[in-house]
Formats: sequence, C-alpha cells, structure tokens
Amino acid sequence: MYSDGAVLPPEVRDLVDRDRILGAAHHAADGIADPALLRRRLEAEAVAQGAIFEHGVAAVDLVSNGAGWAVRTVGGADDTLHTDHVVLAGGIWAPTLDRLAGLDLPLFPVSHPYVTPDNLPFLGPHPRDDGLWVAEAIWVTHAGGAARALARAILAEEPAPSELAVDRFDGRAPHELRAAALRLYRDIYANDAAASG
Ligand SMILES: Cc1cc2nc3c(=O)[nH]c(=O)nc-3n(C[C@H](O)[C@H](O)[C@H](O)COP(=O)(O)OP(=O)(O)OC[C@H]3O[C@@H](n4cnc5c(N)ncnc54)[C@H](O)[C@@H]3O)c2cc1C
Repeated sequence: MYSDGAVLPPEVRDLVDRDRILGAAHHAADGIADPALLRRRLEAEAVAQGAIFEHGVAAVDLVSNGAGWAVRTVGGADDTLHTDHVVLAGGIWAPTLDRLAGLDLPLFPVSHPYVTPDNLPFLGPHPRDDGLWVAEAIWVTHAGGAARALARAILAEEPAPSELAVDRFDGRAPHELRAAALRLYRDIYANDAAASG
C-alpha cells in the first residue's frame, strides 16, 4: 500500500495521478485468468494423465449397486456408467444433482452462482452414502485447493475439512439459513461498492 510520501515503484508511477489518488495498492503477482483457456489447459493435462471427459452427456439418475454406483446418462455412448465414486459438482445445477442423491442443501441463488449461510463451499462426503461426494458452491478462486482436498479425501489420505462438511447446517431453520446467506452476500458486494464508489 502506497500513500502520501511513499515512493511508488517505476512500473506504476506513470499510471497514478497523485493529484487525485491518495493511496494505491500494487499486487505485482496479480493477474486475470481466461476461464475458457484455463479449462482447456486443465482438461488437456488431466487427459494426459488418464482422465476421460464426455462432453454433452447428462447424468439423470443415480443408483447404488452395492459395491458402487450406477449413473444413468443421456447423450453418451453408454447409457449407464458404473463407478466406485461419484462427485456432485454441478455448479448452478447443483440442486438438481443433489436431488438425485437425496440431499437438500442450503444453497441460495444469487448473481454469482450460489451462496451458503457461511459463504464457504460444501466439500466432502455425502452424509449417508459411501462413494458419493459433494463439491458445490465453489468459486474459481477456491477451485484448486478444493479439488486437492477432495482428491485426498477420496483417496483416504486425509479427511475433507470439517468446516466444509455437507451436513454442517442440519437442524437449523431454513429461513435463518437463507437470511444468513443473503446477509453475507450483500456484505461482500456492499464492500465492493464502497471501495469503487
Ligand atoms: C457472472 C459471474 C461472475 C463470476 N465471477 C467469478 C470471479 O470473479 N471469481 C470466482 O472465483 N468465481 C466467479 N464466478 C463463480 C464461478 O464461475 C463458479 O463458482 C464456478 O464456475 C463453479 O465451478 P463448478 O465447477 O462448481 O461449476 P460449473 O463451472 O458451473 O460446472 C458445472 C458443470 O456441471 C455440468 N452439469 C450440470 N448438471 C449436470 C448433469 N445432470 N449431468 C452432467 N453434467 C452436468 C454442467 O454442464 C457444467 O459443465 C462467477 C460466476 C458468475 C455467474
């Protein structure tokens, strides 16, 4: 943070009108991610390590088959996929996938996809069913760490963070959860508006 009297580094000195701007923050390592490019790059790296992506395929039903899960799909080569683990990571479609897994989580739609009552993701095992995992209400900024934590939990290397447990709001009144979630969301953007106003 630079304020009156501080020496600005040469790379920003010419950009700052010091008659009008009283302070400035300079993040030398800051950047902008191109989401489409980033996604393609991450997919290519995953494919190189053996992952298979099936685009345009919708999961429409989820049935426990004793040892694992059968996922009924539409639009792919096979109409059913058999797997040991399923991760529910449907973004804005999360509640639709949750219903297939018998979950009704406090996810409240806002301009950005969803906010939860504590503004943290749902990340970890399904509260009742083995082999089912949830990765929802995750912002791009949380994505790398969330994916690593979930992979470690699935591989039984380390439990998923308890602060993000899927059942952490169980037993609390829906209207209270909604009010808490929307209050937090308003506070984030009220601060943004104050900073830019
Ligand atoms: C306007 C806007 C601005 C944002 N700005 C930021 C920002 O500045 N910083 C930030 O960190 N985040 C930002 N976000 C939030 C961020 O984009 C999301 O939180 C993030 O993309 C969620 O990633 P995800 O993988 O959980 O879900 P998504 O990226 O939504 O992916 C979910 C995937 O699941 C698939 N799917 C859904 N249902 C099914 C089904 N039945 N069968 C098969 N596939 C299914 C969908 O096709 C989709 O590909 C912004 C969001 C919006 C809308």
